Amino acid sequence: MSGEQTAGAVKPAKGWGVYREMLARYVFPQRRLLWSLAALLLVSIGLQLVNPQIIRYFIDSAQSQGSITALYYAAGLFIAFSLLQQGVSVAAAYFSENLGWTTTNKLRAELAEHCLSLDMSFHKTQTSGSLIERVDGDVNALANFFSSFIIHLAGNIVLMLGILALLFRESFWIGLVMTAFVVGAVYVIQWIRKFNVPVWKNWRQINAEFYGFIGEHLEGTEDTRANGAAGYVMNRFYEMTRRMLPIRMRAFLGFCMMWSTTILVFALGNAAAFIVCAILWKNGQSGLTIGSIYLVFYYTEQLAKPIEKIRTQLEDLQKADASLMRVRDLLATKPLIQDGPGAPLPDGPLAVEFRDLEFAYEEGGRATLDHLQLRLEPGQTLGLLGRTGSGKTTIARLLLRFYDPQSGSIELAGTDIRQFKLHELRRKVAMVTQNIEILEGSVRDNLTLFDDSIREERIAEVLKDLGLGAWYEALPDGLDTMLASGGGSLSAGEAQLLAFARVFLTNPGLVILDEASSRLDPLTEARIEAAVDRLLEEKTCIIIAHRLATIQRADRILILENGRMLESGRREELAADPQSRFSRMLAVGMEEVLA
Ligand code: ATP
Ligand code: MG
Repeated sequence: MSGEQTAGAVKPAKGWGVYREMLARYVFPQRRLLWSLAALLLVSIGLQLVNPQIIRYFIDSAQSQGSITALYYAAGLFIAFSLLQQGVSVAAAYFSENLGWTTTNKLRAELAEHCLSLDMSFHKTQTSGSLIERVDGDVNALANFFSSFIIHLAGNIVLMLGILALLFRESFWIGLVMTAFVVGAVYVIQWIRKFNVPVWKNWRQINAEFYGFIGEHLEGTEDTRANGAAGYVMNRFYEMTRRMLPIRMRAFLGFCMMWSTTILVFALGNAAAFIVCAILWKNGQSGLTIGSIYLVFYYTEQLAKPIEKIRTQLEDLQKADASLMRVRDLLATKPLIQDGPGAPLPDGPLAVEFRDLEFAYEEGGRATLDHLQLRLEPGQTLGLLGRTGSGKTTIARLLLRFYDPQSGSIELAGTDIRQFKLHELRRKVAMVTQNIEILEGSVRDNLTLFDDSIREERIAEVLKDLGLGAWYEALPDGLDTMLASGGGSLSAGEAQLLAFARVFLTNPGLVILDEASSRLDPLTEARIEAAVDRLLEEKTCIIIAHRLATIQRADRILILENGRMLESGRREELAADPQSRFSRMLAVGMEEVLA
């Protein structure tokens, strides 16, 4: 938890309106749960208040040598009520947990969906850790708040007031002294906490740093070992643990201090109750019995619970406050890429046109793509060449609308891509990238991405076309064989071929292959060359390649340099022109010309 907790006054940062809004949206619709919980709590409070009265009756009857049967009844009643109260507590815990999860699951789902809708530029600036913290950590803090705050706070206040009222009923003076005690106790506990909170904050801070450090180095283990940096890492580890120890000790000492102070405060409360009782007893006019004195003692003991609870509830409120603000900030982040009005996208291969395309990742920053012009007829294949960092992958991202260009436009089939619905566009434009995500799931799910309408025969056919026929036959459960997340059970080449298969199953109108064959060994590559040729027949295609062999099938060539067009034209013409860079590439190799 990285919950920024502020010490001192309990006041939500942006007023109570936010809370009301959150409660109205997520908690109040669960009316049935809320009412059940409230009813259970009231019963539980009632039982807690009644039980000491039974004890008093028991003691007084025993003392005045009343009938033994009455004593049996009183004892039985006491045990029955105690058991009932335990049962009610369990039921209340169940309902309150239920309420917390039902309400926050809705919030979790909304947040997860919202995150998926946010731009790539947003996700590039957020670490996955911070998003997990938001969708899970902060929501957990809120779950606690939703499930228990209002009802438990109200419940404990009622319990406290109930006890005080019953003490007043015994004697005005006892009531008065105990009320004064409650006010004093709350003040002292709050005061002592003030010293403790900053230390715990430090502890949480250094803890977060420590986990960050461990996480980073677990991920980078391979590099750390390969570069012989293990000694350095251990050094930092020792240094961190050395810094942690004194903070932990101070935090724990503070905790002990607070704990013993709390015990002391309540012991003083008991003492005060006894003193008042003793005085009243001595004066003898108040009608106080031994049973009543025990009752007062019992109630004083019972007061400790609501005081403690109210304090922790208010602390939870502070934690929830920080979480609530972060969650709201996230929900308020709007994607820059807005869905189009929904122009129709035709079936079949799509014409592609870049009109004076200009794009920079940062607003006002260096242009990553500079005045690009290009036209691809339906069914044509473009070979996209360029040095690393020249902007090839960026073009693919723009075609999928992960980003929008600052000026100029991209057209598919003669319509600006901002006119299409995003999901339509992304269904019609498919990309195979350098990094293939294999999800935890069956082979079928990985290939169809959960589209049930794709028939098994069709999948088998595509796999066979891609040269995965033997692999498919060998799968123990066929298409239902499970794959591990990250594709650990697949070779790099197989993973790459599965990514191809994914694209061919969706039957897109434009395919972008981003160095897709770079991971394949020569034999596998040769095997799929033919298949790809056939599968691309009815599609427009952009092949991003670092090697000339991969673009033999291109109709057009575009060579990029720092986001600008260095050369563009029909492949045959460029190849035939001895002055062109492309023909020089063919003669001496791509690396020499681009270097
Ligand atoms: P490679 O051949 O290495 O894959 P590329 O031609 O695909 O390179 P791009 O990934 O399009 O290159 O990157 C073009 C430029 O944009 C590079 O200078 C890169 O540093 C920059 N760039 C890429 N992604 C981002 C990003 N998310 N934010 C900011 N700059 C980026
Ligand atoms: Mg790239």
